Amino acid sequence: MELTSMAATWLRDLAGMIWPRTCAICGQTLVDGEEMLCLKCLNGIPLTELHRSDFNTIHRRLAADVRIERAGAMMKYHRKGAYSGLIRRGKYNGRPELLRSLASLYASQLLADSFFDGIDLILPVPMHRWKKIRRGYNQSEVIAKALSGRTGIAVGDNLTARHGHKTQTRRGAFDRHRNVSSVFEVRHPEELAGLHILLVDDVITSGATLHACAKTLTDSVSGIRLSILTLAIASD
Ligand SMILES: [Zn+2]
Repeated sequence: MELTSMAATWLRDLAGMIWPRTCAICGQTLVDGEEMLCLKCLNGIPLTELHRSDFNTIHRRLAADVRIERAGAMMKYHRKGAYSGLIRRGKYNGRPELLRSLASLYASQLLADSFFDGIDLILPVPMHRWKKIRRGYNQSEVIAKALSGRTGIAVGDNLTARHGHKTQTRRGAFDRHRNVSSVFEVRHPEELAGLHILLVDDVITSGATLHACAKTLTDSVSGIRLSILTLAIASD
């Protein structure tokens, strides 16, 4: 063992004595090889397997006037669910590492199913810069970067939010659609021409935000192909 990696192991063990790493669901101390979740909780993730279907519920929510190639969501979202709580904590409680770990886990499953084959670039659903400054990060970007780390597919910043689109919680479906239309724009659309883009968000609810992004992209870029990926899907 090299000195640097010995030092790293020693430091990690020392940190483990002071702050033991615990499962983010059940609180049990993690053993070597476990990340964020213990093995039991890892096996309990309510996976959707939606990405294995050519026309699934995500396609149905978005496909009114945009063509979506592949679409996947890691887990079912329940407002009070423990696993959905990982996403909420990742998003609102300043714990982006939870989103990173979930995205990395999901990437392993998707890689095994060849989901990323032919995808040229990952684009996160953008967040207006003032909101990003307040929160400290854009959760979709955190997820996109974690997926990129596992797949080697670059993350682009061509999609931007023109002005603060309000949070979707506690809004009716009609308001949601009206609220998000035309808030996104594409910078340097010529860079994206002919590419297969993976659009990434944390949770899909009505699909209005992702639909608005997809519509903006297909209206602005020639020959673009789109796929969709989120960590969770809520019932509409
Ligand atoms: Zn656990």
